[in-house]
Amino acid sequence: MRKIVKITTLIPKPLNDCTAKINKALLEKAGHKFSNNTYASKNVKQNLMKIYNNKCAFCESDTTAGAVLQVEHYRPKAKVKEDSTHTGYYWLGYEWTNLLYACSSCNRAKSTSFPIAAIRVFNPPMNGTILDTDGCKANYIDLENEKPLILNPEETNFNPMQHLIISPNGKIRKKTNRGDRTIKVCKLYRKNLTIARRSIVDEHLRYMMKAFEKRKDNLISENNLIGRLEVEIERIVDRINNNEPYTLLAKYMLKHFDHFFVRKFQPIEQVVLKDVFNRLFH
Ligand SMILES: [Zn+2]
Repeated sequence: MRKIVKITTLIPKPLNDCTAKINKALLEKAGHKFSNNTYASKNVKQNLMKIYNNKCAFCESDTTAGAVLQVEHYRPKAKVKEDSTHTGYYWLGYEWTNLLYACSSCNRAKSTSFPIAAIRVFNPPMNGTILDTDGCKANYIDLENEKPLILNPEETNFNPMQHLIISPNGKIRKKTNRGDRTIKVCKLYRKNLTIARRSIVDEHLRYMMKAFEKRKDNLISENNLIGRLEVEIERIVDRINNNEPYTLLAKYMLKHFDHFFVRKFQPIEQVVLKDVFNRLFH
């Protein structure tokens, strides 16, 4: 996961022009047939695509890895798995701040799940007979007071490193209860994700090892070795760019560079590698 900045006032047109549908949903509640031509219209998708850099809100897979991205309701619109008496957050079915972008695997896994730690909201915020649109925003006090357990990348000050850990073997682990629930509900432990993340680590490791081998065989100079190591570390830094998949992994590769890479080398090589790394960052 990574922090996503969505300008909540720039609402895509189809969501701005659907008052009649919202009113219908208010009457029909969970029985309302939500129009995916509206909440998942081309315009909404294109906006989300841009905001999310074509990556899943939860697992950060991108479309190049074959992930099909779908419009995901953060608060489920018609049912809540954790509470059979809940009708779903039907009043948020067309709410811009409730729409994330997720791959089909995360979307399917999460489905109607929405575990919380505090008091669940059951009814729409109304001003008389009119829906209070401010009360529908994700940062509305009643909604925040639910204390959702699924991490939302659009949260203010969201920092995935506070909740999730990625290990050198590609596995994801929890740091907090929210991290734990997000991993479990969205099945972020999926094998293909672990493999994808691990192969990135291995690729960098292989390249660094190759550089040391070439130096050992005297095929390259010491300067050339250092240059190659620098390039490889810069490639890891590049992985933090928003359009790259698995930026959280990249952040951990840099934060725990020793644990990810240095310890895999011979003591003399470790000194060289650490030195190159430290010079780049200090
Ligand atoms: Zn995903």
